[in-house]
Amino acid sequence: MSKADIGLVGLAVMGQNLVLNMADHGYHVCVYNRSKEKTDDFIHNRVEDRPVSGASTLEELVGCLKAPRKVMLMVKAGDVVDSFIDQLVPLLDKGDMIIDGGNSLYTDSTRRTQALKEKGILFVGTGVSGGEEGARTGPSIMPGGNLDAWASVKPIFQDIAAKSDNAPCCDWVGPEGAGHYVKMVHNGIEYGDMQLITEAYQLMREGLGLSADECHQVFSDWNQGVLDSYLIEITADILSFKDKDGEPLVDKILDAAGQKGTGKWTGISSLELGMPLTLITESVYARCLSALKAERIAASKLYPRKPAVSEADKDAMLQAIHDALYASKIISYAQGYMLMSEAAKEFDWELNYGGIALMWRGGCIIRSTFLAEIKKAYDESPNLSNLLRAPFFEDAIKNAEDNWRKAVIFGIENQIPTPALSSALAFFDGYRSERLPANLLQAQRDYFGAHTYERVDAPRGEYFHTDWIQSG
Ligand code: NAP
Repeated sequence: MSKADIGLVGLAVMGQNLVLNMADHGYHVCVYNRSKEKTDDFIHNRVEDRPVSGASTLEELVGCLKAPRKVMLMVKAGDVVDSFIDQLVPLLDKGDMIIDGGNSLYTDSTRRTQALKEKGILFVGTGVSGGEEGARTGPSIMPGGNLDAWASVKPIFQDIAAKSDNAPCCDWVGPEGAGHYVKMVHNGIEYGDMQLITEAYQLMREGLGLSADECHQVFSDWNQGVLDSYLIEITADILSFKDKDGEPLVDKILDAAGQKGTGKWTGISSLELGMPLTLITESVYARCLSALKAERIAASKLYPRKPAVSEADKDAMLQAIHDALYASKIISYAQGYMLMSEAAKEFDWELNYGGIALMWRGGCIIRSTFLAEIKKAYDESPNLSNLLRAPFFEDAIKNAEDNWRKAVIFGIENQIPTPALSSALAFFDGYRSERLPANLLQAQRDYFGAHTYERVDAPRGEYFHTDWIQSG
């Protein structure tokens, strides 16, 4: 067999499916996995007559690649990536490329880009979204790192990526860890979208007394309109799925959520950069609270919730919940974009915001028709300071606002928690307020810590201090 176009290390779920995807697009791939039996099993049982060859060592892998060599890592994020980089560097030549397609922390990708650049190796840190199915049939790919690698990597990545309106859901994101940063925000948005859907579901089930089948129908209907998205679609599927006894399987699943950390990283980054990413952060906390199952059981005995189902007009309330979900989703994306644009400023990256929406349009978990509107907003106004200032979203928020409040009040009255829906509304009310009570807060800070304050009747940047005890 001729030399391979690319090498891939790590034959777990993502690696195997990406290899098959590349091979189906005509690329010859050479693969390596730490546990050799996985390589053998993959070659014998999944590869069939595709152009894929197995290597038993990293030396063998590197030896079977065309120059400049491209080695993609699809292994567990963290130290494992560094360990493979350390093993690969002595085997590679200047101008060769290492691509990390795992869910790595963006600061690690920044560090790796810089360290490898000093050795003449081009590093690409790329987000790959879409899970197993996306990897196999077309993921969303968000590459960043050393731009010199892009021309060589681009054809492969754009060929295997999902397509939206015939455009590949893959483009260069930016330098250093920009690709992994954008993937991290994508995952944070995914946390937010999922949390919003679960809150809508709980309002329907516990507030309106809908069955799982009725909720299935509502989500199926919603998937035909502005909320049309992969996550709404799979939610409708899940709600109609029956266990062996004919009961909805969803009712038998323990209500304690897991998480792998990318939502938490997004929240941490928002705190570091001082951006109010309230919806995503609340979504991470909602998972944390759900995981305190034993404590919640004990508390539910202490503070029993009122058992009655509301007598609210079902159709009107369903419309209110729909509108609340839509408006909150807009807030979540607006916050995500605020964070990315602050990161771009902080790290001196130039990010293509419309391109990012396009990359998320297909192949990934948050794909939705809604993203086309974000792309359009940035196409129409590339320097848009905030998504909430784009006319399309301004109209959408204004149209949804009354119902959004109704849905949140419905949750409050019926003791149903809506951390994401209500924090989105609180953010919106803060964002649209010319005056917030931070004047009093500044006075408190000055009172106990002499932190000074600015005055509304003096130029910005002029600071005042008051001796509050004497003056008071
Ligand atoms: P994974 O479970 O995260 O990692 C398994 C791979 O890492 C295997 O090849 C394994 O080799 C290797 N590995 C683990 N520890 C190792 C060590 N100490 N030394 C050497 N190799 C080691 O695999 P995955 O789910 O396919 O994900 C791959 C990457 O993509 C991860 O960063 C993940 O976060 C990211 N990702 C996953 C998904 C998804 O839906 N699963 C979606 C997007 C991104 P052995 O076979 O020898 O154990």
